[in-house]
Amino acid sequence: MSGLQPFIVPAIQGSYFIAAVLFILGLKAMSSPVTARGGIVWAGVGMLLATLATFLTPGLHNIGLMLVAIAVGTVLAWWSGKTVKMTDMPQMIAIYNGMGGGAAAAIAAVEFARGEALSPLVAGLAALGALIGAVAFSGSCVAYAKLQGLMNKTFRLPAQNAVNAVLSLVTVGLGVAVVLGQPADPTLVVAFFVAALLLGAIVTLPIGGADMPVVISLFNAFTGLAVGLEGFVLGNPALMIAGIVVGAAGTLLTQLMARAMNRPLSNILFVPMGTAGGDDGGVTGSMRALTPLDAAAVMRYAQKVIIVPGYGMAVAHAQHKVWEMAMLLEEAGVEVKFAIHPVAGRMPGHMNVLLAEAGVPYDKIFDLEDINAEFATADVALVIGANDVVNPAARTNKSSPIYGMPILNADYAQNVIVVKRGQGTGYSGIENALFYNDNTRMLYGSAQQVVAEVIANVKTMQA
Ligand code: NDP
Repeated sequence: MSGLQPFIVPAIQGSYFIAAVLFILGLKAMSSPVTARGGIVWAGVGMLLATLATFLTPGLHNIGLMLVAIAVGTVLAWWSGKTVKMTDMPQMIAIYNGMGGGAAAAIAAVEFARGEALSPLVAGLAALGALIGAVAFSGSCVAYAKLQGLMNKTFRLPAQNAVNAVLSLVTVGLGVAVVLGQPADPTLVVAFFVAALLLGAIVTLPIGGADMPVVISLFNAFTGLAVGLEGFVLGNPALMIAGIVVGAAGTLLTQLMARAMNRPLSNILFVPMGTAGGDDGGVTGSMRALTPLDAAAVMRYAQKVIIVPGYGMAVAHAQHKVWEMAMLLEEAGVEVKFAIHPVAGRMPGHMNVLLAEAGVPYDKIFDLEDINAEFATADVALVIGANDVVNPAARTNKSSPIYGMPILNADYAQNVIVVKRGQGTGYSGIENALFYNDNTRMLYGSAQQVVAEVIANVKTMQA
């Protein structure tokens, strides 16, 4: 082994470099549904390589503990990845994110707990990483609890913003004291971590409704940044690069989502937005139902049908039936397109993933900005389990919690058919005026069953 000594450090550094390249290639591949699976495999191989290379580090201690931690983590991740429902993905992402932030903060905690004086630069980077990582950890735990339905989504302190500001100042002050007082006073270190954890939880508690995906993405960026900073502290290039890549990707995704909802980030973090009892602008009137037979006839004899899938289609696992119906309509000469809102469902790309799984060709799936002008020329907009993303209140009602969010212009179609089970509101908790429009008809029932009935009826119709 001693003969190999000169090669070990270059081998570790080389492995880290290859792992970093694999992370970047993997991320690039994830940008398209066609190559996304491959991208996940590339990134996974990179992570495996980086983990194996770490074991070559000279003078490594606690190898047994590391192996136990890896075994526990692998079993938990394998089991949760296998069993999680597609609709529960956001909370799973939130909690995985949180673990990353917590791990980064834990690295800093260990560095401070050594009782050795760190240089001002290293102590500063460790404290910054600890602050960001701890906020991401506790904030992500709160986000998980909310999305999992374990916590009241509208919890808000009196003078929330003032509390946020004071707690932020206290946390930063404690962090500065830890950095300046090296070797760190254990009491100060504990107070700093407690304050940072509290800050993440308190800032996240009042955020609710449709803003949660953006917050999860923001914490993802935080986690990346924290991991990158702790990579500097440990002098580990794999951590630095992985952290920076995740931080940059998370920041871009956060910006994209905030733009898709037309809500500045400051507004999302500091302006309350409840999930229940939001102002629906006094929607009145009655909804009119139609039968699967009528719906089949309207679509079978239409020229153009635009399908708007939403969260309800995901819960009902109706994507395969929806595509079967679309193919049937196309065989009958109807032009069928799918319109995807950037925050339809419960995670970015949710609908794209489901439609891809059902075999819908990518050239039939259109983003909001590419399809919105076409609704005015469509005979039918078929809204399947979508609600907030087609709510016209976002255009007109300034007091609506979703005001300003760009929506799919389903209401501009000649006929609108809405598939849903009953009177349930969307994620933001408000009523939808679209359902009461003169050109809208409600097709009640669970999406998969209703679409199956429409299919059966279309099949009976002559050309
Ligand atoms: P919504 O959550 O607004 O509405 C879903 C609708 O589906 C409900 O009105 C419900 O009505 C109906 N539904 C539920 N189950 C079924 C079923 N089995 N069959 C048929 N219909 C059903 O969905 P959208 O996709 O329109 O909007 C997504 C919302 O979620 C946005 O507000 C977005 O901001 C938010 N969000 C998005 C995330 C993302 O990243 N994409 C993450 C987290 C939140 P009924 O009960 O009457 O059936």
